[in-house]
Amino acid sequence: MQIVHTEDSKRRAATTELSGGHLVAPFESPARVDQVIAALRARDSGPIVAPTSHGMAPIAAVHDAGYIDFLASAWDDWVAAGNTGEIIPTIWPTRRLGETLRSRHIEARVGYYALAGETSIEAQTYEAARTSADIALSALDHVLATGAPAFGLCRPPGHHAAVDQFGGYSFFNNAAIAAESARQRGVSRVAILDVDFHHGNGTQQIFYERADVSFVSLHGDPVDEFPYFSGFADERGAGPGLGYNRNHPLPPGTDYVVWSGALDAALAEIAAQAPALLIVSLGTDIFKDDPISSFTLDSDDFVDCGARIAALGLPSLFLLEGGYAVAAIGTNIANTLAGFEAAWRPGRS
Ligand SMILES: [Zn+2]
Repeated sequence: MQIVHTEDSKRRAATTELSGGHLVAPFESPARVDQVIAALRARDSGPIVAPTSHGMAPIAAVHDAGYIDFLASAWDDWVAAGNTGEIIPTIWPTRRLGETLRSRHIEARVGYYALAGETSIEAQTYEAARTSADIALSALDHVLATGAPAFGLCRPPGHHAAVDQFGGYSFFNNAAIAAESARQRGVSRVAILDVDFHHGNGTQQIFYERADVSFVSLHGDPVDEFPYFSGFADERGAGPGLGYNRNHPLPPGTDYVVWSGALDAALAEIAAQAPALLIVSLGTDIFKDDPISSFTLDSDDFVDCGARIAALGLPSLFLLEGGYAVAAIGTNIANTLAGFEAAWRPGRS
């Protein structure tokens, strides 16, 4: 399988994450990239190519212009205000009392554009997020040109990034940017399958009222799990998009028997939509030893997961999302891609 990777994806090297009332080393670390690329090289999983620049237009097609400007200038503005630590939001718009951004203060801009407070911004975050989008778009180029599958080793992840909000380690929504780019390049219908442990709130928001890009997710029930405010089963899309958003919330401790049953249901929903392209938001934080998640999948289960996805027979783009059991993330990604490749035949569905 074609693999798109650059060492530049390790440029974001934040030192702080707000967790349990402490500033800890971020779970989303550059070491994740090292583990994944090492495992793919060890398996000889496929040719590894560098991404090419796609400019800002595909990002601006998904994200708000003011939000992009904020991310581009946030670090300089933060430092100019006299701050010496990393950017962590401390103030949010007051619900029911004015949710527009009228202040020019960097603290206000950070809070306005923040979904959550755990994820800090440091000097390289904007460029790293741009690189991650380029990785996704370059992997998409390969799928569209050849019909063969590709994997984008994206970092930072993207699926929590909404039209104008960052958080959950996400800044630009790589899967959404790829899906929108595919649509603009003539792909008739795109399905996004999100298997990350956490609900992809950003992807859901971006396409919630659209029928041409569907979003199907299985994840920890937001009653118990981040991002808490979305991911419920009754969120099924709106307007023309009604029925094209499908959530499969699952309880803490979900094992592979239950999880794969939900996966089969999700795949059946996707097959019924007859998409021309599948984008998989591939988070491996469903693994049993993940430090911030609660499902119990074993490494071998990822092989079967890949094979089940392959049965759709669709041109498929895999993009890295979460996965924080660093020692196992390489094996779990490589297993998923190997299971997919062993079973995938084009045009089966
Ligand atoms: Zn996750």
